[in-house]
Amino acid sequence: MKISAMQAMVFEGAGKPLGLRQVPIPAPGDDQVLIKIIACGICRTDLHVLDGELASPKFPLIPGHEIIGTVVSIGKNVRNIKENDLVGVPWLGYTCGTCKYCRQDKENLCENAKFTGYTLDGGYAQYTVAFSKYCFKLSGQYHNPESAPLLCAGLIGFRSYHMIDPKAVNIGMYGFGAAAHILIQIARAQNKKVFAFTRDGDSKSQSFARELGAHWVGGSSDVPPEKLEAAIIFAPAGELVPKALKNLDKGGEVICGGIHMSQIPAFSYDLLWEERVIRSVANLTRKDGLNFFDLLTSINVHTQTELFRLSQANEAIAKLRKGEIKGAAVLVMDQD
Ligand SMILES: [Zn+2]
Ligand SMILES: [Zn+2]
Repeated sequence: MKISAMQAMVFEGAGKPLGLRQVPIPAPGDDQVLIKIIACGICRTDLHVLDGELASPKFPLIPGHEIIGTVVSIGKNVRNIKENDLVGVPWLGYTCGTCKYCRQDKENLCENAKFTGYTLDGGYAQYTVAFSKYCFKLSGQYHNPESAPLLCAGLIGFRSYHMIDPKAVNIGMYGFGAAAHILIQIARAQNKKVFAFTRDGDSKSQSFARELGAHWVGGSSDVPPEKLEAAIIFAPAGELVPKALKNLDKGGEVICGGIHMSQIPAFSYDLLWEERVIRSVANLTRKDGLNFFDLLTSINVHTQTELFRLSQANEAIAKLRKGEIKGAAVLVMDQD
């Protein structure tokens, strides 16, 4: 008998917990694939969606944009993916291909982009559909829940890291969670010195950073013993921007890796003078994904995850909010 319904955790309004619902399994459009989900990571961006800080989600919405799954059927125009392929589905779910940003190879800024788990249904479910050209075909080594955080924490971390001058050695990371714990492994493999900043007094995250080879660890108010050539801010706290600038060497860069940040306090121009730079990183391009998974063939990255059942999504989200997840939280779907 063909199964026609699935379980999903559905976002039904800002501030409300997600509801466990029985919903129809979506049918793939001509350019889409239907994916049986193995696992979906929980990203900080999901919290911003649930809190109403990202203003225009589809409604009702199935969140989640760190999806690993197996393709079970394909639309009639799909050529790049076959049934039974293992795929990853990231945040960037669709672009128009015709706007000025798309034409300038900046599809991450596409005017008509659609985003997985925000303006398209995502992965807090047993199945999802996705536009095939935005899925990454993955090798069998990623056939496990531990790989899910690579699809956003890994990828956005990688895009942020790539914004930095490749000659920079001293790199600060503010917020040592899902993204930083993946990125530090790449940075260490490339002989960078990583300075990890956590919430003040968060000794658990500090020892985690130390285990992963951080050159120095401290609280976000601490001053590191050496100047930083770049700092990536993953925590959504605007007050970290002037703090990071203060620790930055001449010509250094502060990269804001998150989609949302609280207000940045005013600061003296002295902190920016001498060609220091502040920039944000928005979304990703498909090329970032290809480069990232290509790099992972030569660098062995281990993700630290805490696994939850789909129905435990609210509990997992609450733990992430409190900073109680070591590494990344991942929802694992029933495989029967
Ligand atoms: Zn476009
Ligand atoms: Zn994300």
